[in-house]
Amino acid sequence: MAILANPRLVGELEHYGAGDVVKCYHCGNCSAACPFSKEPFIFPRKSMRYLQMGLEDKLRGNLEPWLCYYCGECSEQCPREAEPGEVMMSMRRWLTAQYDFTGISKLFYKSWKAELSAIVAVALLTGLGFWWWGATHGDIRHYDGPQAFLASSFVHAFDWIMGGVLLALLLTNCARMWWFSMGRSRINVPLTEYVRRAWLLPVHFLTQKRYRECEKKRPWAVHLALMLSYVTMLVLIMFFLHAFQEGPEISWPHHSLGYLATIGLIGASVYALRGRIRRSETHYKHSHETDWIFLILLLYVAVTGIVQHALHRFGAGHAANILYLAHMMGVVPMLVLEVPFSKWAHLAYRPLAMYFSELQGAAILAREKSAAPAVRARAA
Ligand code: SF4
Ligand code: SF4
Repeated sequence: MAILANPRLVGELEHYGAGDVVKCYHCGNCSAACPFSKEPFIFPRKSMRYLQMGLEDKLRGNLEPWLCYYCGECSEQCPREAEPGEVMMSMRRWLTAQYDFTGISKLFYKSWKAELSAIVAVALLTGLGFWWWGATHGDIRHYDGPQAFLASSFVHAFDWIMGGVLLALLLTNCARMWWFSMGRSRINVPLTEYVRRAWLLPVHFLTQKRYRECEKKRPWAVHLALMLSYVTMLVLIMFFLHAFQEGPEISWPHHSLGYLATIGLIGASVYALRGRIRRSETHYKHSHETDWIFLILLLYVAVTGIVQHALHRFGAGHAANILYLAHMMGVVPMLVLEVPFSKWAHLAYRPLAMYFSELQGAAILAREKSAAPAVRARAA
């Protein structure tokens, strides 16, 4: 079968943050230094090779970029300063764009102005829509009760519709990821293996346990705190929104979880922003524009959320409603644009890649085992 090479691939990856790929001369130091590089997934050197050779299809089906946690060991050991850690990061961005069938992700990664314009447009539409609804169905001086400006029943229905659209987009992207990496691969994985190892998916998602194997534990802890806070907040909003809009009494079973999640979101985003400004750790040395947009949006949403909550509890209904509008103007673009098309998508892709790679690894091992007697017989 002919293998097609795309000579423009290195240039294309530059839009996603890869800068020094051509410097690599394949000494292999990076793969030797990587704590996650284990048979049959030896990286990052092989991925650097695919990229240099323009093997687009191989790169599209490559799970290795998702097995990298950007600890930076490889970049520190590279004698050519080819920044393999950053190249792996840029491949994750490129893969995110490949899984997305709409082309929106590609547009965002190639032009931060397009992403920012889309965020502003969705934010303005959200603000206008919610303002119109509130003005025609409620009173801006009331945060809760029958005259509430934004009744929890309305926001709840809106959240569920938005959640359904998001889920459909994400599942489609995940199906494309499966097709590129597993479906058209020559490594055949039986359906029973998918079922038998399905438990790996929630375990990797909820614990990020492979990240913990990194020598430096702090990035894992920050990442886990951010992910758990985000998931907690999502569950609270999707299932218990009414408890957050009633009041002014505090519903401790719900609010205590909400406070913890808010602390996690603000703490992790401030930590990451500070790290990127100071370039204090290897994985913060290079920042793509989309990293800044994501973190600023996340911080904005968390801060406006807690301020509107405080205003409501102190009885300032009018101000709380204005902050609620401002909050939703951040929430909607974050969920509609960032989850399926940008940085947040890796919350789904990384655990999936862990799961797929374990399935592939076991299948390769089984194939080698069954081939071994035949090889021994030929040698005899
Ligand atoms: S250490 Fe640097 S030069 Fe050597 S293979 Fe890795 S990226 Fe290439
Ligand atoms: S950044 Fe760390 S995890 Fe990623 S390829 Fe390099 S050494 Fe491996």
